[in-house]
Amino acid sequence: MIDTHCHVDLYPSPARVIKEIDRRGVYVLAVTTTPKAYRGNVRLVESSKRIRVAVGLHPELVAARHCEIDDLCKLMAGTRYVGEVGIDGSPEHVGSKGLQFDVFSTALSRAEELGGKIFSIHSRAASGLVLDAIEKQVVKSTPILHWFSGPLKDLKRAIGLGCWFSVGPAMLRSRKGSELVAQMPVDRILPETDGPFASDGRSPLMPWDSEQVNPIIAEIWKTSDASVRSTFRSNFERLLVQPEPLHP
Ligand code: MN
Repeated sequence: MIDTHCHVDLYPSPARVIKEIDRRGVYVLAVTTTPKAYRGNVRLVESSKRIRVAVGLHPELVAARHCEIDDLCKLMAGTRYVGEVGIDGSPEHVGSKGLQFDVFSTALSRAEELGGKIFSIHSRAASGLVLDAIEKQVVKSTPILHWFSGPLKDLKRAIGLGCWFSVGPAMLRSRKGSELVAQMPVDRILPETDGPFASDGRSPLMPWDSEQVNPIIAEIWKTSDASVRSTFRSNFERLLVQPEPLHP
């Protein structure tokens, strides 16, 4: 089982969630919303074999905390994973869009200096701008667009730029989400939950709930649940073993 975008530290009882992740053998990319949270998270998961922590600066926090970009850049030297970063262009955050673009671009360019990182990227109502930054900065890094909800033309552009995609049960509840997934390359999709922010309609999704996407994707791909699971597994291994360069 794999969850490539989960806010492990934001559940009411992270220690209990981590214990259950370990018990069930889930591979988790624990994204963080600030550099400080990253440090705390690293300590939390110290003894977990299958949890990796990404250092992040959430776009919704950039207006208030853009100064922490220096801290983010420093901590990036100590991890292969960066997230949650990106740009949010929805009405509450559109005012800081320029600042968000700068912070995101700085993180992408820092990653290039460091030889490339794996990114989990937020692009709500800002997919065009996110792709502008990726196009300009990324050669060695691997961008994963999490919960992509942009227009189809941006999805096609993202595919052309070599982006990966992580998709969760909440995204697949909407028809638009399923339609987008149908257009994504089979060899560049990974499961996620975005828990505890995303829910199943009643309660927050847990990392092991990422499997809820399997039957829905099996239907889209006209295949079996088992084959979806094995595709995710091999995508995940390929992502970790050899980040592919963009713009080949
Ligand atoms: Mn998130």
